[in-house]
Order: sequence, then structure tokens, then C-alpha cells
Amino acid sequence: MTAPFPASRRRVVLAKLAKLYADMDAAYMAAAAAAGLDCAGCAENCCVSFFQHHTHAEWLYLHAGLDALPAEKREAYVARAREYVAACREALSRGETPRAMCPLNDDGLCGLYDHRLMICRLHGVPNVLIGSMGVREFPGCGPCQRLAAEGKGGKAMDRTPLLKRLATLEMELWGSRPGRPPKVDMTLAEMILAGPPGK
Ligand code: SF4
Ligand code: SF4
Repeated sequence: MTAPFPASRRRVVLAKLAKLYADMDAAYMAAAAAAGLDCAGCAENCCVSFFQHHTHAEWLYLHAGLDALPAEKREAYVARAREYVAACREALSRGETPRAMCPLNDDGLCGLYDHRLMICRLHGVPNVLIGSMGVREFPGCGPCQRLAAEGKGGKAMDRTPLLKRLATLEMELWGSRPGRPPKVDMTLAEMILAGPPGK
């Protein structure tokens, strides 16, 4: 269990993450416009994708959003998160990639839109990540790949600087503790059920 992060540090990191998310949204909107991608009316709701998240900083941000909800709403999401985790375990035990609806999805709309995590913000458009192992390419969602196949679509978005900023925030949240932050590999539902990092 991670020991609590000091409240002052949490506030600073959450404020910087809000700015980073705004920059991600702007980058995504530019890339989606260039690709001709529009989520309105999409029949392939990507909120059933098996997304995992990897930082304490985003985990904290998610809980800041949950904490601001009325108790009844939050409890409904917690109940759905339990069902989601059980459905994922079942699928994984069959050797399948889970395809369960995100517990925060309310009839097709994100119930915590302002607090959704990075992958939810960047998923749709083609993008690249440049690291020490070379360039990793992500083709974007199904509809976006079909647009590209029709000769539409724009240049892949480089998400490297955005991820670097997120990694810097993770280290800032970690502070002067020894070593590096432990690796996080959790679905959003697991993050909901676990409570905020460093309770
Ligand atoms: S990102 Fe792609 S799959 Fe997801 S809602 Fe938008 S168009 Fe549909
Ligand atoms: S957090 Fe919101 S956008 Fe992300 S998968 Fe869940 S419902 Fe969809």
C-alpha cells in the first residue's frame, strides 16, 4: 500500500494534470478534425475497450471526480465497478480480452467526462509514441482506421510529449520517497474499488 501523498502536493499535481488534460483534449480535437473523425452517432462505443491505466496521478484525479459526486451516484458507480471487475475476470479466465461497458458510462455518455483518463482522451485518432525502443504506432479506433483506408485521415498525433509530462507529474506526486513509484496496471473499475491511491 502506498502511503498518503501530502495534501499540498496532491493539489499541485491535480492542477497540473488538469492543464495537461486540457492540452491533450486540444491535441486530440486537432487530430480528429484532420482525420475527419467525429464521435457523434458512432455505433462502436469504445467505452467497452479493455483499457488499463498506469499512474497514481491519474488514479488520484479519477477519485477527485468521484468524491465530488452525490453519494448515491458514486455508490452506483462502485456497484457497477464490481460487476465490471467480475466480468473482466471471467473473460480473462477464458483467455479472452474483456469487452465490458465501463462502469462510468451512462447510456452512452461518460458520467465523469471532465475526470476521464488519458486513454479515454486520446484513443480514437492515429498516434505515435517515440521512446528508447523506437517508434510505436497506434492506428486509432475502428472508424478512424476505416477513414484512413478510404484515403482520408491526417498525420498521426505524437503523444510522446504528453506522456512525458504525465510521467513527470507521477514523479512529482511521488516526491522524495526512495526509488520510483511502483508500476500501476489497473482498469478504471479497479481504481474505483481500490479507493484513492495512498488512502
Ligand atoms: S473514438 Fe472512435 S470508436 Fe470511440 S466513439 Fe469516437 S469514433 Fe467511435
Ligand atoms: S471513463 Fe468515460 S470515456 Fe472513459 S471509458 Fe469510461 S465512460 Fe468511456
